Amino acid sequence: MKICSSCEQEKRVCDFYKDKRKTDGLHSRCKLCHAKTTNAWRAKNREKARTIDRKSTRKRYAANPQKYRNLAQKYRDVGDKAMRSAYNALYREKNAEKKRERAKAYYAANTDIVKQRSRIRFQRVKFAQRPINNERTRRRRIQKLQAVPHWANIAEIRRIYARCAEISALTGMVHHVDHIVPLQSMFVCGLHVEQNLQILLASKNLSKGNRSWPDSPDVLPYPKPRRRKLSETVAPM
Ligand SMILES: [Zn+2]
Repeated sequence: MKICSSCEQEKRVCDFYKDKRKTDGLHSRCKLCHAKTTNAWRAKNREKARTIDRKSTRKRYAANPQKYRNLAQKYRDVGDKAMRSAYNALYREKNAEKKRERAKAYYAANTDIVKQRSRIRFQRVKFAQRPINNERTRRRRIQKLQAVPHWANIAEIRRIYARCAEISALTGMVHHVDHIVPLQSMFVCGLHVEQNLQILLASKNLSKGNRSWPDSPDVLPYPKPRRRKLSETVAPM
């Protein structure tokens, strides 16, 4: 702490400018008082102050010209960008009504084309996305049974389901993708992997249920269970 010689208040060291000539290395007056007297002097001696400023600026520039060139370029860039975006915003604002009207006119003149275009776009996205979405839904459900190992070949699984849909469409008979070893039964739990999938007639798949797998006994020692909801059979994740 140090007492200012002008306002006579006790202030922190950082509130004083450095001055090598002083014994404690600090100005005797605080920054605030220094600014007051300096500004008062500058107001009285404008020309002199300006010459001093110019001189010190030139000195600083000469000491490190590249730094100031870079700074100038930076300010130009920022200025350009700000100007451009401000100008663009102004243009959009000014012409928003015009743009809306042009779009409206185009739609009125080309209603059918516009509608068809958006229909095509929608269908394209829908069909491209559908098998992916289907497999995602399936995985979410089956993941609850913890039957999707990390090495499952998702692409191959998706292909099997696609082939199944194709076969159903070609034969006119509904086919299902069946898990050869059932995902859940009292004795075995199969995995949702490509090797455990087969395409079956829906009627066959439904009659098989989870009571039959490659080496299952002919008669299971338990009765056909009543159908339970998934929420009843699986602990919440
Ligand atoms: Zn002071």
